[in-house]
Amino acid sequence: MTQLHNMTVAQLAQTLQTKQASAVEVATAFLARAGGNPHNAFLDINSEVTLAQAQASDARIAAGTAGALEGVPIAHKDVFVTRDFATTAGSKILSGYRSPFDATVVQKLGTGVNHQNGAGMVSLGKVNCDEFAMGSANENSAYGAVTNPWDTSRVPGGSSGGSAAAVAARLAPAATGTDTGGSIRQPASFCGITGIKPTYGRASRYGMIAYASSLDQAGPMARSAEDCALLLSAMCGPDLDRDSTSLDVPAENFSAKLGDSLAGLRIGIPKEFFGEGLATDVRTAIDAALKTLEAQGAKLVPITLPRTELAIPVYYIIAPAEASSNLSRFDGVKFGHRAKDYTDLVSMYKKTRAEGFGEEVKRRIMTGAYVLSHGYYDAYYLQAQKIRRMIADDFQRAFAECDVIAGPVAPTVAWKLGNNASDPLADYLADIFTLPASLAGLPGMSVPVGFGEAGMPVGMQLIGNYLSEARLLNVAHQYQLATDHHLQKPEGI
Ligand code: GLN
Repeated sequence: MTQLHNMTVAQLAQTLQTKQASAVEVATAFLARAGGNPHNAFLDINSEVTLAQAQASDARIAAGTAGALEGVPIAHKDVFVTRDFATTAGSKILSGYRSPFDATVVQKLGTGVNHQNGAGMVSLGKVNCDEFAMGSANENSAYGAVTNPWDTSRVPGGSSGGSAAAVAARLAPAATGTDTGGSIRQPASFCGITGIKPTYGRASRYGMIAYASSLDQAGPMARSAEDCALLLSAMCGPDLDRDSTSLDVPAENFSAKLGDSLAGLRIGIPKEFFGEGLATDVRTAIDAALKTLEAQGAKLVPITLPRTELAIPVYYIIAPAEASSNLSRFDGVKFGHRAKDYTDLVSMYKKTRAEGFGEEVKRRIMTGAYVLSHGYYDAYYLQAQKIRRMIADDFQRAFAECDVIAGPVAPTVAWKLGNNASDPLADYLADIFTLPASLAGLPGMSVPVGFGEAGMPVGMQLIGNYLSEARLLNVAHQYQLATDHHLQKPEGI
């Protein structure tokens, strides 16, 4: 039998259902791997809680009432609120915070909303992330940076860096992530795993700590498209009473079309994604992947996404604007940290926020307040909203000519820790290929397609039209049947 920690979600589900291992045995194996907190991936672990959940899973398996992924462990990004583990969103301002409820996505993957129809997964705890999901390298966490399991001198990507590192290092078979401007796709790419951000509104945002509400979306990170399909099927579905932006689209079995042939599939290749800024090693790996897809029957169609470059200024106006509003709730009154010394209410607010927020979060709150302020609103925020619409329209024109779009996830492989420490703009610029799909609300995923500079993983991005997640997963799965990049693991695992 494959070692438990090297099994995929699909293999673990099978192993548990056929009683070759118990949920307690599986949980124990993963808890042992997370001991000592390799890569600083976890922010909260509690073996008693995890083992109690595993025991409950074993009881459901014995009783014949098991969920689809009963007993399979999962780690949750610390942006999802959880009752049984602390929730910090990577911020000091929420240190020690305990939510009175679980996020919808956590419930659905666990015992279900109202304890009904849950997938039955066992929670391994909470994983590290950039503070309030703001970042591209997981260096903005108040609880320290996460390291990349492929090379610990490099970043794992962000903001879901803990999720990606935990999956790549086999500390968890799967993790949840959130993606506002690329935070599932880019760390998946940097750590050689598979991740998908579904269409905006597909998965409930209830209990997902808000960064930029018109962009935030939850999604799974795992080692294969097959696993992502299983997880996404459990995560999605309407949550109309609790999230007003939740789509009223029934839950879907995303595994159903994995086996479809790629014959005749039209893959759009946006010329703006293959320009000067793209590193040669990344380009070489993507080109080879496109050849494989062609050999599987797909046709490559040149397309254009002319406003790709504008996605950076547009996103870095809209996201901070929304963040400045969302983060106003952290005032020392309701949640987490409160300054010790203050003279009156206003000084309490000021000191609490000055002490509680990190530099990047403060930078974004200031940018957001500025672009929304009287006198600048029209010049920045309104303009950005107009261009956002044009970016979405560009995609619709492109999808008249192709079924999916393929390109790089990021211009380079994972960079060295500390590389961009004095230059936040360098991190922003590296988001260029993930931001357009986010601004348009489209589904996007990252698929490992090989290795570049210094043996670091390279991910290919697939972008689909609204609600075409099944198609993206199908393309990724067919590609993974023909290749073994997603099966490679960092040394020593
Ligand atoms: N890197 C982007 C940012 O810093 C995206 C983050 C995300 O998707 N949460 O805002």
